[in-house]
Amino acid sequence: MSRVVPYWTAWMHEWPEPSALAAATSAEVITAWGRLGYPRRALRLRECAESICGRHGGRLPDSYEELVALPGIGDYTASAVMSFAFGRRIAVVDTNIRRVLSRVFLGEESTGGAASRRERDLAEDVLPRGAVDSVVWNQAVMELGAVVCTARTPGCEDCPLAPFCAFLAAGRPGLGERRTRPRQRFEGTDRQVRGIVLRALREAGRDASLSRVDLEGLWKDRTQLESCVASLDEDGLVEIGSDGSVRLPLS
Ligand code: SF4
Repeated sequence: MSRVVPYWTAWMHEWPEPSALAAATSAEVITAWGRLGYPRRALRLRECAESICGRHGGRLPDSYEELVALPGIGDYTASAVMSFAFGRRIAVVDTNIRRVLSRVFLGEESTGGAASRRERDLAEDVLPRGAVDSVVWNQAVMELGAVVCTARTPGCEDCPLAPFCAFLAAGRPGLGERRTRPRQRFEGTDRQVRGIVLRALREAGRDASLSRVDLEGLWKDRTQLESCVASLDEDGLVEIGSDGSVRLPLS
């Protein structure tokens, strides 16, 4: 969260309205995205701004159905916007909320992966009926999951839900268990190589390109480098010139 704040502030300063973002070039948004990771999201965000301008007159729609129909917006983002931006009563199901609800009401560890039907139904069932209370609830449960009821070391001794928590009463069975695979190490992965290429392009400047020689100086394994440059091209994050040089897209 703290890592994202400076990027968010600069981004909103540069493009305060969807219409401004829709007019930005790929090179500009990829550069502004910096080292946040998953740079395709920068392009999706601009696509989303284009759709907001094209379909909704430049204003973010205030219905769940219209929000999830926008590029890059899934259930979580649409629900969070409906709750936090528009104050509507809707269950928000993120990792922290799922973990708290599963522990408190079901007495079970939430083991990650995609949210199940049961977890979604639970979030809906326990959501306060009033819209204002439901927004406070979503924020409070999310925050509790982030700072108290954490994945590996929940602070049960300081937790306001301790007297009601089925998980604590059951002796915290399976604490910290995960269904998802452990995170892949970053060093040597295609993600790292793609990040190195994009960083070199950002540092070279929006209109500059990297020659073959420049590129080959970035990573020793040529096969992996070629494959990563090709995948960046397929994702619309770079353009490859006829001489093999690479640049950020100008469109
Ligand atoms: S008592 Fe412990 S397990 Fe239960 S909600 Fe609080 S921090 Fe989480």
